[in-house]
Order: sequence, then structure tokens, then C-alpha cells
Amino acid sequence: MKIQENVPIAPYTTFRIGGPARFFCTVSSEDELVEAVRFAKEKSLRFIVLGGGSNVLFSDQGFSGLIIKNEIMGKTFTDDGTLYSVIDANAGEDWEEFVAETVEKDLFGIENLSSIPGKVGAAPVQNIGAYGAEVGNVIESLRVLDTKTMKFIDLSFVDCKFSYRDSIFKHEKGRYIVTKVRFRLCKQGDVNIEYKELGKYFIDKHISKPSLKEVRNAVIEIRKNKLPDWKVWRTAGSFFKNPIITGDKFAELKKIYPDLPGYTEPDGRIKVSLGWILDKVCDAKGLTIGNVSTYEKQALVLVAKPGATASEVVAFSNELMHRVKEKTGIEIEGEVDWAFV
Ligand SMILES: Cc1cc2nc3c(=O)[nH]c(=O)nc-3n(C[C@H](O)[C@H](O)[C@H](O)COP(=O)(O)OP(=O)(O)OC[C@H]3O[C@@H](n4cnc5c(N)ncnc54)[C@H](O)[C@@H]3O)c2cc1C
Repeated sequence: MKIQENVPIAPYTTFRIGGPARFFCTVSSEDELVEAVRFAKEKSLRFIVLGGGSNVLFSDQGFSGLIIKNEIMGKTFTDDGTLYSVIDANAGEDWEEFVAETVEKDLFGIENLSSIPGKVGAAPVQNIGAYGAEVGNVIESLRVLDTKTMKFIDLSFVDCKFSYRDSIFKHEKGRYIVTKVRFRLCKQGDVNIEYKELGKYFIDKHISKPSLKEVRNAVIEIRKNKLPDWKVWRTAGSFFKNPIITGDKFAELKKIYPDLPGYTEPDGRIKVSLGWILDKVCDAKGLTIGNVSTYEKQALVLVAKPGATASEVVAFSNELMHRVKEKTGIEIEGEVDWAFV
């Protein structure tokens, strides 16, 4: 494993923003990962593990510690004789390729999470979700390096404390580095097309029982029409989480904005559509300030022009946070990890 110095971070992120990393390395095995973390500890440096860089924003000044790019590859599919297949996927595997392979093998559970950029190891970090599915629901356990004790341990689904775009990894930030994820996918499942947009897609096509592949293709098509292609645009997808508010607050807002979409969470609170609020209430769809805009088709997604700086992205997001607070009283939270700005 080679540790490089003063490596530009921008090309390793989908925002393509950020100054140099003081130290940078890629690791392709657990031994190399341990070596990298030891290097940082010995030098009292901060360290960050990076997957595909699709949910991060780095500072224009760069990062004064060590960036560890996780490229631990490999996966195994095991049929354990039950209704399920157990899959161990290493953290450096590409998420979208992994989803494609599971659908190809007729395994149900992550088809609605098609087309999400990034690596397998980051999927549990924010419990990636889309079109009515969340990855936490099909994760059995994870293998992680506990950087506090420098021991590899297994964390169960329960230990991970998955909830909406949240997990233990966001709360004990930097402590655990995921090296392997164990999934349990169903061999004879049912597709989940309850999400409104997905359901409508099949109603419009007069398909009442879509196949696994049809659902994956539908998700890919819907996303293509609604979200920027990260290979073309500089973006990290949705910049903020949809806010979850009390029923009383929702009722109050509904009086002013009768069309405000809301979905009841298991705890009775209401998740409201921030994209809708930014568009209809804050007039922010397609808003541009300098080099940063909200995406023309989805205001929750920020896009940056070449030359945009992290400071501009932060200033723009502060403006959106201010508008939402002023119009609705809601304090919104970031989804992208911008702790490095
Ligand atoms: C166009 C676009 C669309 C998107 N759509 C969605 C969507 O529909 N749903 C959704 O949930 N997300 C979406 N995202 C966000 C993003 O793709 C996911 O959060 C993805 O899981 C990030 O993976 P990554 O490998 O790029 O993580 P990175 O950006 O590299 O890292 C993200 C965070 O995870 C940590 N991390 C990374 N790897 C590990 C590891 N092995 N162990 C511990 N911590 C780690 C990093 O330190 C960082 O804090 C989208 C992003 C884009 C650009």
C-alpha cells in the first residue's frame, strides 16, 4: 500500500470539488486498511474512509489528514437451502453493479435501489433508500474495523440502528469502517411497487404484476428522467433529508399549503416532501446563485458548475435552509456529509 501526499480530492467525488488531501491511499485488503489507520494514528492525523465520493463535500482547502479509499473487492452468493440467499459483498464493490447482479440472479430486495451511485460499504452508512425501499431492511450484519480498539467485529442489523437516512455510523462518526456487508435476499419474493410514482408507471403501462427486472428497469427510467446523471453533472444527489415533523405541525402547514405531500412514519410523525417545499413554497426550483443551482427537475438536488467552490455550495445551502425556516418554521438537515468543509 502506497501513501501519497497532497493528492487532489475533487476527482474522487461526484461534486468534483475540494482541495488536496495531505495524505491519500487506496486499500484493497483488511490488512492494508489496518496499516493505513495505524499510519494516521501514529501521526495523530484525522482519517476518513471514502467509497465512490457521491455523498460528500470537501473543503476548498482540502483535508489535512489521511483519506483512505476503500477498494476491498469480492462477493460470494450462498444458497442456504431456505427461501433466502445470503450474499457477502466487500465494501469496495460498486453498488449499482451489485444490484444488477442480484436482479440477474432473480433475488428480490434491492431492485428499487437501482442506479444509486457509490460503493457497497457506504450503503449502510446513510441506510440508502429510494422508491419505498431501504437497504437496512435486507442487511443481516456487517463486518467492520472498530478503529477505537483496532479489532474487526460483526455488527448485527440491530446494532446498526437503521432509520431514515441514518445509522450508528453517523452517530459514532469515523469509529467503524465497513469492510463487508452480509445481505439476505429473497429467492421468491414479491416486488414492491407501493411507492406512488412507481405504481403509476406500471398502471400507465397496464402491467399489473411486473417482474423483478421490469421493476429495476422502471426505477432506472424514472430516475433518468428526474435526476441528474452524476457522470455529467457535479452533484451529490439530494443535499438535504426530507424533514419529519409532528402531526400538529403538518396540520398547521396543510392549512396554508393544502397540497403539501406527507407520508406517515411508523412513529406517527409525518415525513414531508422537501423537494415540494423548495419548489412550491420557496420558489427555489432551478434557483441559481453564482455557480450553484437546484436541479431544474428536482429542487432537493444541488448541482454545481465547473469552478464552483465548496464555500459557494455551503452558502447556497444556507440560503435554502433560511428560506425553508422562514416560510415553514422547519429546520432542515443535510443528507450529504459536509463535515469536511
Ligand atoms: C445522482 C445521485 C443520486 C443519489 N441518489 C440517492 C438515493 O436515491 N438514495 C440515497 O440514499 N442516496 C442517494 N445518493 C447518495 C449516495 O449515492 C449514497 O449515499 C451512497 O451510498 C454513497 O456511497 P459512496 O460510496 O459514494 O460514499 P462516499 O460519498 O464515499 O461516503 C459517504 C459517507 O460514508 C462514509 N463511508 C464510505 N465508505 C465507508 C465505509 N466502508 N465504512 C464506513 N464509512 C464509510 C464516508 O466517510 C462518508 O461519511 C445519490 C447521489 C447522487 C450523486
